[in-house]
Amino acid sequence: MKNNPLLQRLNAALPLFEYIKPEYILPALDTTLDENRAKIFALLEGDKHDWLHLMQPMEEMDEHLGRLWGPVNHLNAVCDSDDLRSVHQQGLMKLAAYQTELTQNGALFSAIKNLYNGPEFQTLNDERKQVIRHALRDFRLGGAELPPKKKERFKEIQVRLSGLGARFEQHVLDATRAFELYLEHGRDLAGLPQSIRDAARERAKVKGREGWLFTLDAPSYIPFMQYAENRDLRRQVYTAYVTRASSGVRNNAPLIVEILGLKQEAALLLGYHNYGEVSLATKMAGDSSEVVDFLHDLARRGRPHARQEVAELKTFAATELGLESLEGWDIPFASERLRQRKFNFSQEDLKPYFPEHQVLEGLFAVAKNLYGIVIRERKKVSVWHPGVRFFDVFNGTEKPIAGFYLDPYARPHKRGGAWMDECIMRWRRPDGSLQLPVAYLVCNFDAPLGDKPALWTHEEVITLFHEFGHGLHHMLTQMEALDVSGIRGVPWDAVELPSQFMENFCWERKALDLFARHAETGEKLPDVLFDKMRAAKNFHSGMRTLRQVEFSLFDFLLHTEFSPDGEQSVEGLLDAVRDEVAVLRPPSFNQFQNSFSHIFAGGYAAGYYAYKWAEVLSADVFSAFEETEIFDYETASSLKREILSVGSSRDIMDAFIAFRGRKPAVDALLRHSGLGSQATA
Ligand code: ZN
Repeated sequence: MKNNPLLQRLNAALPLFEYIKPEYILPALDTTLDENRAKIFALLEGDKHDWLHLMQPMEEMDEHLGRLWGPVNHLNAVCDSDDLRSVHQQGLMKLAAYQTELTQNGALFSAIKNLYNGPEFQTLNDERKQVIRHALRDFRLGGAELPPKKKERFKEIQVRLSGLGARFEQHVLDATRAFELYLEHGRDLAGLPQSIRDAARERAKVKGREGWLFTLDAPSYIPFMQYAENRDLRRQVYTAYVTRASSGVRNNAPLIVEILGLKQEAALLLGYHNYGEVSLATKMAGDSSEVVDFLHDLARRGRPHARQEVAELKTFAATELGLESLEGWDIPFASERLRQRKFNFSQEDLKPYFPEHQVLEGLFAVAKNLYGIVIRERKKVSVWHPGVRFFDVFNGTEKPIAGFYLDPYARPHKRGGAWMDECIMRWRRPDGSLQLPVAYLVCNFDAPLGDKPALWTHEEVITLFHEFGHGLHHMLTQMEALDVSGIRGVPWDAVELPSQFMENFCWERKALDLFARHAETGEKLPDVLFDKMRAAKNFHSGMRTLRQVEFSLFDFLLHTEFSPDGEQSVEGLLDAVRDEVAVLRPPSFNQFQNSFSHIFAGGYAAGYYAYKWAEVLSADVFSAFEETEIFDYETASSLKREILSVGSSRDIMDAFIAFRGRKPAVDALLRHSGLGSQATA
């Protein structure tokens, strides 16, 4: 396509979404990839391979590709259409092929290695040094150093693994969709809140049926298990859920064995002992024993609390609910009843205190108190939907430093959940000018109805703060080299630190007082409600912690100690983990591992522990503020200087120690989750 309108506008300050039309995308991508290929070829033909003649042009190509593909990828998530989806999928395949070519390019690898070993390396700044180190590491993990035969096998394994992961996920999706529970009698709905009934009625209607439809999708499954009084129906739904992808053509059990075998083989080819070591090569945790010890320690500290919670729940279920034995399908139900009994409030009670405009003002005020930044809306920016807004971020001296889009509302053709994504990276361009970072913040909250403001739940407010925390990591970066800028290259077990850190402010009176006021009366959040909210925060914290540890330990041992050809089965390992850490045993027909997509299809293999790991970091960082003052400017400046601004240019443990004066400690997380006092039991 000559004069592709999309390519012609790639250098605009912000993406021009109206030009991202499906018909322009693939031609633009093909042109860009071909140009890149030709440039790389020419670069390697040249005889000078220093930063200026190798890494900088590579950076430019990367940036150009990101400018093209980033907004396409984003649109596919927020404005899905059949045309766009098909173009997106084809584009992903082209990009994967290009990526593989790069990793397999021996000449490129050698050139970067020579740069690393040459005299120029020592003269480069920390950022550039790290870019080169990361590039070499990723080449090695991609099999670039292997002799030809092994390289071929390694490639085969990767292709096979990506196919297996996709099939695993497809089986889970198909099995989830295969189950439908139609209820025709109102009496079967006993216990379910009106909003859940309405949603089920709507689902049935879409399928042209009378009555109410319940499925295994989370928005249907979770409330059904929490509220449905009919125990037999709960058992049915639970059984279907925990046996997904466990039999017939959708059985994931053989896939798991094959995936584990191939991962193990790939790890051995790369010279590691097991896949766990491969995973840790890009993470903050040092070695396997550090991860396992960490999980054991959490289990040990959480167990006395979890035992007590289970005992209380069992007594309550027996005496108040007539449930003599507490089964897997009773636990969410009994827990929810007990929660209501103990705390007697719901998310609905809090909503009037969180109207949208106040929440945003409050969020921006928190950011201003901490980092001295000012956030102002900019109108007339190209967006993908009228509900989307754009904000500029200024530093204390009114200098623009970043920007972000906010797309807060749920709507059709938009992926569920909430996330932050990079739109534009902070980067020192080859011409010396500085490119400022821009973020996408996407949520799925209620939109305003008529002239009434949107009211958000406390959980939604926490989600917004969380994503904004990721956004700050991207926007407050001071990095100028692309591959270490913002969140790029930050280890997965540390990347949730800035986001979870921001969540803490949603639980603090001093922060809530900045914005939690009744939409109609303007009254501050009453102490009674605030106290209930705080008290309910750690309900069943011990049980939840042990569950996370169980998943994490199972995942990690599966990728380190487990051998697919050995005596022990996958189920056997899971049983052993449960023997060690679980306080509640699921029924023997529970096959949850067959739908554990995070680790078998989602990139979290030997990395599920990262969630808890990052919680330790973020809680410990927040405790530095608790020791001074939650808006302490000095502490916030230090956090910005040592951690938020450095991207992945610095070892994250060093960065943490520079901020905290010591290594991370688990105490703050235990205290925040109410697991502190009995820790030695
Ligand atoms: Zn996050």
